[in-house]
Amino acid sequence: MTATTSTHHWNGILSSALEAVGNTPLIALDRLRDSEGVNCRLLAKVEFFSAGGSVKDRIAKRMVERAEADGRLIPGHSVIIEPTSGNTGIGLALVSALKGYRCIIVMPEKMSREKEATIRSLGAEVVRTPTEAGWDSEESHIGVAKKLRDAIPGGIILDQYANENNPLAHYHGTYQEIKHSIETSDLQCKRITALVAGAGTGGTITGLSKALRDDQAKESSSKSGANGADGQDADEAKAVVVAVDPVGSLLGGGQVGPYQVEGIGYDFVPEVLDPNKPNIDCWIKTTDDEAFAMAHKVIRTEGLLIGGSSGAALAGALKFLHDTPAGRAIATNEDANVVVILPDGIRNYISKEWFLDGALRAPTSNLAQEIAHI
Ligand code: PMP
Repeated sequence: MTATTSTHHWNGILSSALEAVGNTPLIALDRLRDSEGVNCRLLAKVEFFSAGGSVKDRIAKRMVERAEADGRLIPGHSVIIEPTSGNTGIGLALVSALKGYRCIIVMPEKMSREKEATIRSLGAEVVRTPTEAGWDSEESHIGVAKKLRDAIPGGIILDQYANENNPLAHYHGTYQEIKHSIETSDLQCKRITALVAGAGTGGTITGLSKALRDDQAKESSSKSGANGADGQDADEAKAVVVAVDPVGSLLGGGQVGPYQVEGIGYDFVPEVLDPNKPNIDCWIKTTDDEAFAMAHKVIRTEGLLIGGSSGAALAGALKFLHDTPAGRAIATNEDANVVVILPDGIRNYISKEWFLDGALRAPTSNLAQEIAHI
C-alpha cells in the first residue's frame, strides 16, 4: 500500500498538509437518532476534518500522485485544469500549492464564493461558467476546461468524471477508514448495515459500495467455507447501499431542473458512476428545503458544522429509514449501523442565504429583554 491508500493514525509529526488528507472521524449522531425516532445507529463520516475540508481531498491527492507516477504530470511543466463543483478544485489547489503546479479550476457560477476564495487563496486561478449550460455545451465548466487544456501548453485535465482514481481513492481510503473506525470501536455488532451517500461524480458511492460488496463477499465466503452454510446467510447480511440525489438531477431519475445544493446531482451520468449501478440498491430524492433544514438541525444539535450536501445525505438517510420497507426494518434494529457520508463543512457556504437565514433566525433566549432590564 502507498501512503495514499493506507489508514494512518496521526502519531508523531506529519511531513505536510497532504498527510492530513482523509483519516476523518466516524461520529455517532445519537441526538439526531433520538429526535428522529429511529433505533439504529447513525454513524457519520465527517469529511470537513480533512485538510482541504472535503471528501474530495483524497481523490485530488490520488489523481495527482498517480498521474505523476505514470509520467502524465510533469512538475515544472504541467498545468492542472479541472472542471468541478469546487471541492475537487480546493483539493487540487492544495496539492498544487504544495507541489508547485499552476492550477486552473473551472466551476459553474452557482458554486459559492467561499469555494472560489479558498481556491484563490491557495494560489490557483478560477474561471466561472453559466450554471444553466448543459454539460456537453462549449460554455459549460466541462467545455471551457477542455478549451483551456487545448490552448495552454502543458494543460492536463485529470478528469474526476472518468478517472478510476476517483472511486479508487474511496475504495482504498474512505472505506478502509470507516472499517477501521468500526472495528476499533466498542460496538457489539461491527457490520455495516446500510451505507448512504450523495452522488455528484459518483466516485464516493461507487468506490465505497464496491469495497463494501467485496469485503462482505470475502467475509461470507470464509464463513460458508468454515461452517458449510449455503448462500442464504450472505444474502441476509447484505448491506443496503442508498444513493441520495437532489430533485432537479438526472442521476436518480426525474426531470432536470435548478436546485441550490452544491456538489451533488448532474444533468448527465458520469463515467465513474457505473451506468448499470450494480452496487446501488436504492435512490432517494431530496429537496433543497429538506437538505438545508437538516444541515441546520445537525449543526445545532450535534455541533457538527456540516454543509448542504451533508444535510441532503442525512435527510435522504432518514427518508430511507422512515419511508421504505427495507429502511423501516433497519430503523427498528438497535444493532444496525447506518453509515452516512457527510462530504463537506459550512465554511464553504457561510455567505449563502440558506445558511444566513437559518443561522440568524436560530432561536435564542429572550436576551433582548434581559439586556433591556440591565
Ligand atoms: N457533496 C459535495 C459538497 C461535493 O463537493 C461532492 C463532490 N462533487 C459530493 C457531495 C459528491 O461526491 P462524488 O463526486 O464523489 O459523488
